[in-house]
Amino acid sequence: MTPIYLDYAATTPVAPEVAEAMAQCLTLDGNFANPASRSHRYGWQAEEAVETARGQIAELIGADAREIVWTSGATESNNLALKGVFESAGKDVGHLAVSAIEHKSVLDPAQWLAEQGHELSLIAPDSSGRITAQAVASVLRSNTRLVSVMLVNNELGTINPIAEIAQLCREHGCLLHVDAAQALGKMPVNVTELGADLLSLSAHKFYGPKGVGALYVRRSPALKLAAQIHGGGHERGMRSGTLATHQCVGFGVAADLARAELERGSEQKNSPEQVAQLRDRLWAGIAGLPGVRVNGHPSARACGHLSVTFGELDGELLLLSLRELALSTGSACTSASMAPSYVLKAIGLSDAEALATLRISLGRYTTEHEVERTIAHINTVVGKLTAKVS
Ligand SMILES: *Cc1c(COP(=O)(O)O)cnc(C)c1O
Repeated sequence: MTPIYLDYAATTPVAPEVAEAMAQCLTLDGNFANPASRSHRYGWQAEEAVETARGQIAELIGADAREIVWTSGATESNNLALKGVFESAGKDVGHLAVSAIEHKSVLDPAQWLAEQGHELSLIAPDSSGRITAQAVASVLRSNTRLVSVMLVNNELGTINPIAEIAQLCREHGCLLHVDAAQALGKMPVNVTELGADLLSLSAHKFYGPKGVGALYVRRSPALKLAAQIHGGGHERGMRSGTLATHQCVGFGVAADLARAELERGSEQKNSPEQVAQLRDRLWAGIAGLPGVRVNGHPSARACGHLSVTFGELDGELLLLSLRELALSTGSACTSASMAPSYVLKAIGLSDAEALATLRISLGRYTTEHEVERTIAHINTVVGKLTAKVS
């Protein structure tokens, strides 16, 4: 039997509407040209498609289209945000504060900046994985230049109080970067309400294609970023390279679908509310197993996420035994190694507990039937493994 896909937090399938729009931007009879070609209508048409898509993304997050910079994904957006802010200030040493449970694509550039001589603080989460404004306040210094806190944590689904953190950053006179890769399509994301100066987006976490993302860069007051990729000065000098029309268009259609879904609300089939209901049904169906518990915030949690610790069972063995399910131990980015997840350890789990944790993530195409099958399968497998241990 094909396994049930429950790894939507790692990536999502491309929506059929998105795939169709992308396919029209590839071949000779389609919108294939270089959007930077100024001397013919093929180029103008490609440029128009890219600018329409830019507008669709801006609309989803309440931004101006001129505030959207295309990138290859949230990894590049995060690199551009962190290194771009620090390098634009020349050689002056500055202080950077990032949450300890950021994605590696924030933590690694932060570490790189520290190696270049900048000061770095890691902000500790509470036991639900929340970064509180107080925790941010406790690390701010007179030379703090940038704070980076994610909107939704990729392993736990916990939602951070970004508006409060933004208020604090404003009062302190430093910038706020928000990695919103896990939030798009799951909840409203509005840059003005959040108060973010920089916001990273990725298409493939919300039914768009892999390999394209964007960085929101606030315009008023204007914010200076040093380019990380040089070569022709595209994207207002912030990011060079020929734009991939099909990728941008796919991202734009994904943004439109997400916006329509959020606007139509909870009656919509597999709206974020309904995904949350399926997630809660799944949890209710396995919560009675001995020693299981859910990680993350009980209410401030994105719709599809369910991080579950199964007593002290061996996570790898558990994953191997759950043959009918496709899901992750810890985060996808650390699952190549057997090191316990740094996110789970930061919220207080022991190594053994972290290794006995699975991330189950549901999405737009998850069905009730799949949830019922998942519940039955987990109960059977965990029952057998527990009987062996005791
Ligand atoms: C997936 C993810 C990224 C990386 O995005 P890519 O587009 O795959 O580079 C960054 N941050 C978070 C929180 C993510 O979930």
